Amino acid sequence: MTFRETRELADFALQVRTDCIRMTNHGQSGHIGSMLSMTEIVTYLYNRVLHVSAENPRDPNRDRFLLSKGHAGACVYAALCRLGYFPEDWLMTYYRDDGKLMGHISHHVPGVEFSTGSLGHGLPVAAGMALAAKIRKEDHRVFCLMSDGDMNEGSTWEAIVFAAQQKLDHLVGILDYNRIQALGFSKDIAELEPLEDKLRAFGWSVVTIDGHSYDALEDAFAKLPFACDKPSLVICRTVKARGVPWLENTVKSHYGFIPDDKVADAIAGCKAFRDTFVKEAV
Ligand SMILES: [Mg+2]
Repeated sequence: MTFRETRELADFALQVRTDCIRMTNHGQSGHIGSMLSMTEIVTYLYNRVLHVSAENPRDPNRDRFLLSKGHAGACVYAALCRLGYFPEDWLMTYYRDDGKLMGHISHHVPGVEFSTGSLGHGLPVAAGMALAAKIRKEDHRVFCLMSDGDMNEGSTWEAIVFAAQQKLDHLVGILDYNRIQALGFSKDIAELEPLEDKLRAFGWSVVTIDGHSYDALEDAFAKLPFACDKPSLVICRTVKARGVPWLENTVKSHYGFIPDDKVADAIAGCKAFRDTFVKEAV
C-alpha cells in the first residue's frame, strides 16, 4: 500500500475514533472499547473492499455488510456519516431520546443492512443472504463482522455448519478477536482456541491477521474467497480500546464512554496512534 493510501485510511480511522469518543460521551452510553477495537477493520472495509455507495445505498448489486456486534454500531455510523450516507449533525443524537442513531445498530439508519444487538444473530442472517444470492446467481458478497461474544453463541456455530454445507464462498466472516467480552477475558469465560483448527474442521477457509494493520488487511481481503466452494473467515487479532493507551486491553472499556475530563486526552491518544501509521509508511 502506498504512503498516500495508508495516510488516507489512517486519517479516516482517526475521524471515526474521534466521532466514537464524542458520540458516546455526548450520549453518556455506548461500548467505546469495542468500537476502537474494530476501527481499522471498518475503515478498511468501507474504503477498500465493500462495493457500496452513499448515492445508491439500496443498489441490489451492492455487497452486504452486517455488524453482528451491534453494541459497537457507533463505529459503523461514524464511517457511514463520513462517507456521506447521512448528515453530520445526526452523530450527536446517538443514544439520545428521539435521536437518529440508536444505541445498538439499526437498519433504520441509511447504509445499515440489519439491526443487531443480542449476539449470535449476524452470521445466521448473513449466511441466509449469501444462500439467497447464490440461488439467484447474484455476484455480490456478504460480510459479517463478529466479536468474541458472538463466537460463544450456538446460533453462530449453527450458521458455521450451514454455510459450509451450502458452500457459501461469497460469505466472509470477520472476527474482531480482541479476546475480551462483556464480563471478562475470553480465556476465562469460554476459550475458543485453537480457533483456526476448529473452523477448518467445520469446513471453512481461515486466515489470522493483525486487525490494526492495513497491509495485513489488504493482503487478506485481496485473496477472497480463500478457497473455492468454502466460506472464508478472517480472524483479526485486535486490541480492545486501541488508541487510548490507558484504556487498552481492559475489561472496563467494553461498556461505557469516556468522561468529559478525559475526552481531549483520549483523542490525543488516537492522534498519536494515527501518527504511527504515517511514520511506519515513510
Ligand atoms: Mg471482544
